[in-house]
Amino acid sequence: MKYDIKVTKTNHSRISEVDFENLAFGRVFSDHMFIADYKDGAWFDFRIVPFENIPMHPATSALHYGQSIFEGLKAYRTDSGDIQVFRPTKNSERMNLSAIRMAMPELPADLFMQALDSLVVLDQDWVPTTPGSSLYIRPFMFATDDYVGIKASDTYRFVMFTCPVQSYYSAPVKVLISDKFVRAFPGGTGEAKAAGNYAATLQPVMAARKNGYDQILWTDGFEFKYLQEIGTMNFFLQIDGQIITPKLNGTILNGITRDSILQLLEDRGTPAQVRDVSVDELYDAYQRGALQDAFGAGTAATISHISEIGFKGERLALTPVDERPLSESLKQELEDIKLSRIPDRHGWVHKVAATVVA
Ligand SMILES: *Cc1c(COP(=O)(O)O)cnc(C)c1O
Repeated sequence: MKYDIKVTKTNHSRISEVDFENLAFGRVFSDHMFIADYKDGAWFDFRIVPFENIPMHPATSALHYGQSIFEGLKAYRTDSGDIQVFRPTKNSERMNLSAIRMAMPELPADLFMQALDSLVVLDQDWVPTTPGSSLYIRPFMFATDDYVGIKASDTYRFVMFTCPVQSYYSAPVKVLISDKFVRAFPGGTGEAKAAGNYAATLQPVMAARKNGYDQILWTDGFEFKYLQEIGTMNFFLQIDGQIITPKLNGTILNGITRDSILQLLEDRGTPAQVRDVSVDELYDAYQRGALQDAFGAGTAATISHISEIGFKGERLALTPVDERPLSESLKQELEDIKLSRIPDRHGWVHKVAATVVA
């Protein structure tokens, strides 16, 4: 279906004020945003408007009861100047799964894609060209009823804006295995990209930072025994040559980078083991000198090497990053696919705009 999107262009672009060589992640916003509203069971009023504040009633229910979900994906500038997005339909599907879990309405997949294409084409000059940089796309949805009472809102707003970004988390990260706080339980909302999930992690992460860690490696909430994931990244490790990642069980976010890595490993004939991984198994492998690699996987950084793992007062120092061929080669292969430097075997790349030859 083709939706009618009304476009109101800004009459003063801010692009000339932006230093594209020094982009602070998530602090620079492109000129426009897409908005759609929901009422009486239907989405309506599709529009692209200049990026600006959103006025709100003080009783806006998202602020009080947290019906708020988001997605994150990136548009890349290829060597030939085209603009492409990696697996965007997966983000649309996942946003709708998050919506269902949070009692929010689904947004039609073709509307999501049309919004994305229209917005990125309009703000195409904001897609940076420096290596490793991209245009981060942030779709989100929140409850808009003006009502102080706990119930699923009847009205919602969907917004999509974009931010030019440099590569994120470029330095290897130090992670602390959680033995006290919990991110997600079975039956909870860990598999949804729901705003409140992240709020609940901030205080423990701040405490971990005081001890020199960047992130927490979350464990299950019953025994603090099984590894889940890190901040906004899925977790992979390599023991005795075998690549392993925790199995999805409703507590772990179903990452698109994770899914892509599993496919690449299968293509290489070295499939990963997808199963429960315990803290003890990781610690034992480290003691034996068999822990060869550990990394986080997510859209923001693609792959973040882990340099150190904190566990019960011990700091486990991992193999130097330049001695980890596996994660480096996966990162490279994903990068090459996103930028069309190698064939896109699985149809993952979505072309938004082709170079305009003047
Ligand atoms: C978004 C996210 C990820 C990574 O998902 P990608 O689709 O690969 O970006 C992993 N864990 C959590 C908790 C997340 O929010």
